[in-house]
Amino acid sequence: MAGMLYLVPTPIGNLGDISQRCREVLSQADFIAAEDTRVTIKLLNYLGIKKSLVSYYEHNKAQRGGKILERILAGETCALVSDAGSPAISDPGEDLVRQCADAGVLVSAIPGPCAVITALSISGLPTGRFTFEGFLSTAKKSRQSHLQDLISETRTMIFYEAPHKLLSTLKDMAEAFGGARRISLCRELTKLHEEVVRTTLEEAVERYTENPPKGEFVLVIAGAAPAEKTEVTLEEAAQRVQSLMEEGLSRKDAVRQTAQETGLPKNAVYDAALD
Ligand code: SAM
Repeated sequence: MAGMLYLVPTPIGNLGDISQRCREVLSQADFIAAEDTRVTIKLLNYLGIKKSLVSYYEHNKAQRGGKILERILAGETCALVSDAGSPAISDPGEDLVRQCADAGVLVSAIPGPCAVITALSISGLPTGRFTFEGFLSTAKKSRQSHLQDLISETRTMIFYEAPHKLLSTLKDMAEAFGGARRISLCRELTKLHEEVVRTTLEEAVERYTENPPKGEFVLVIAGAAPAEKTEVTLEEAAQRVQSLMEEGLSRKDAVRQTAQETGLPKNAVYDAALD
């Protein structure tokens, strides 16, 4: 009989956040697949658990995933952990879950620490509807196109970011969304120096220009005010595409933005712009 895969969340800063159920699964699993075995050994030492570990991370996941699946199909139970937080959320795991599910293996996720939800809940921004955007790409073009896609997003948006890239990310966001847009910068969550700065993008840029950021950050950004959709003809939409292109947007981005602003279908705006 096949074993199964457990996704085991681990603390994002405070070791006291490991749950009783996570301890049980980690101690009962046949083996643990870990993003960085050195990090996980520290957690296992804290919990007093000795267990066989295999590494499963971004650069070996294609080859290692198959081996882990073979062991599970042969009857072993695997607990997957990342360095911190919930596996598969901006962390290795997504592919292994898919591989297991495709092979008919049972996958069970234990709820627990996750930076995105922890940040959203204390952001003070609307939590009813939100979108998780992960990390922005470091490549300028895809980073800008990602932000362009979100210009008219009305839901609260959540991003992960590394401290050394924070300032340039804030500047790009201020340019895309406007400096007055509200942001909650959630830093060092669950740790000694936990801090939430609720401010605007413009003020955040000033703040971190003066005091370079340190620690881990989640950025929670208010959505755009819902646009009042007016009746716009295709001819007017085509003119809007033209003027956005003159401002420097590619045709694709100009069409996307115009479709979002007008509520017209993207294909129709594209065809009208070509005409
Ligand atoms: N899978 C993890 C989770 O669900 O929490 C996230 C892993 S991702 C590689 C790491 C990013 O999560 C960091 O760059 C930061 O944006 C965010 N993060 C993790 N721990 C954090 C903490 N204690 N405080 C603030 N942000 C944190």
